[in-house]
Amino acid sequence: MADGSKTELLGLSLHELTRIAQEAGEPAYRGRQLFEAIYRQRLDSTEEISNLSRGFRQQIDERFSLTLPKIESKFTSRDGTLRYLVGLADGESVEAVWMPHGDGGEAGDGSEAGREQESEPRRRKGATICVSSQVGCALDCQFCLTALLGMKRNLTAGEIVGQISSVLGERQVSLPLDRVNLVFMGMGEPFLNYDNFLKAVRLLVEGVGLAESRMTVSTVGIVPRIYDFGREPVRPKLAISLNAPNDEVRSRLMPINRKWNLEKLMGAAREFPLRIRERLTFEYVLLNQVNDSRAHARELIELIRGTRSKVNLIALNPGPGIALETPPPARVSAFQKILIDAGVPTFLRRPRGRDIYAACGQLKRTLGLQASGLSTGAGVESA
Ligand code: SAH
Repeated sequence: MADGSKTELLGLSLHELTRIAQEAGEPAYRGRQLFEAIYRQRLDSTEEISNLSRGFRQQIDERFSLTLPKIESKFTSRDGTLRYLVGLADGESVEAVWMPHGDGGEAGDGSEAGREQESEPRRRKGATICVSSQVGCALDCQFCLTALLGMKRNLTAGEIVGQISSVLGERQVSLPLDRVNLVFMGMGEPFLNYDNFLKAVRLLVEGVGLAESRMTVSTVGIVPRIYDFGREPVRPKLAISLNAPNDEVRSRLMPINRKWNLEKLMGAAREFPLRIRERLTFEYVLLNQVNDSRAHARELIELIRGTRSKVNLIALNPGPGIALETPPPARVSAFQKILIDAGVPTFLRRPRGRDIYAACGQLKRTLGLQASGLSTGAGVESA
């Protein structure tokens, strides 16, 4: 159990760990050993760090703790997706999702954002992990279940990294991690927890060993942070949750649009400095009779014209308390066809783990669902 009076090591940078070593009178490379033990080896207690002297370990234990978030329960979908309830030191919890590749469902995991799918050879076995950035969410998007939780708090960088470490541990994934993709598309808005999100990215790249090119972050459209993000030397690919082709519809669905409207958002998107062969992704949740007409599709084409981008369509994943409907498949296909015919690369994100509430917009603390009698109960396992 984490001891609240101690500082958590998981989340500290190489620089910070090196300083801790030096303050204890140890050589600087002990900091690197700590860093490797925490992130590369993903150890769960200082006792396991066997290359440090007992004396140094005792000194560390007096002031610090090393605790991975706990996987409290695990839900298994018919399609192989796993949803994890991850418990944090203060008793809060968030959800993380594991989506295995190789079942033809890759298009459902969000990781295709920005990739040249047409030219990429069939992916080998691997998986995409979807992680949360906040406990709950403040944004109140009308189609999203996480919104119903309200905003509880930001996650620390350690808690963001810890979700990945715990899931990799549970899945017994060993190095190299070159078949693991990561999407920051779970609960919360990463760009409203910008510093911790970016610190986590750096720890994941330098420590855990995941490639930034295999990471995608999705934002609701926090415009100033999109500009900041474009200037980051190390950054995932960017996906923007558009979800509507005009301000009237978007403001109704996503209150944030009243603060940063489509003109501001698309301005930031147009100025976003893309790397070679990189594309922006625009996500668009299709809602029956709300934003899914032929006219909406044509409006969307005009809105994103001239951007180097692709569109990810997501047919609404329904949920209790959401007063919107999933369009029938024919409407979804018709919408997709209009975009493709206009030359816009457009993909349909297949719902992953809908039966266990693991799909986009369905992450809501499981206990809440169970308490209100709404758990699907499908494949529930306790960890
Ligand atoms: N807050 C960020 C990260 C969440 S990503 C963002 O808004 O981008 C979650 C993605 O799932 C977003 O693109 C969102 O538009 C989409 N989504 C939310 N609720 C959904 C639902 N019920 N069905 C399908 N997609 C949904």
